[in-house]
Amino acid sequence: MNGLADPGYHGYRALMLALFGTSGQPSGWRTSAACGGQDTELFFDASHPERAAEVCGGCPVREQCRTDQLAWERHGSAARRYSPAGFVGGLTGRERKAIHYPRSAARDE
Ligand code: SF4
Repeated sequence: MNGLADPGYHGYRALMLALFGTSGQPSGWRTSAACGGQDTELFFDASHPERAAEVCGGCPVREQCRTDQLAWERHGSAARRYSPAGFVGGLTGRERKAIHYPRSAARDE
């Protein structure tokens, strides 16, 4: 699916900007992020997910990124912010969904 068609797209764009900034000068562990300074569209290009996977695959802070992303998506117990859009922390939306909703993912198999 094209990320632009997804209703969660804008939320994810905001998240990516919050995480990685517009200037390529992120703070904390993000200063070591392999995606710093990259075009965030790369992580929403559903037709070429291998490009984002390659960047994340060599990222030294992938575990921290994944932990923060999954925590952000959980957003407490009642109102999750999970969206299938985007490739973050080395995980596709489908992979993150399987973590957040394991019973649903098992039914889909
Ligand atoms: S794991 Fe991927 S999305 Fe996360 S900081 Fe590294 S390159 Fe960026």
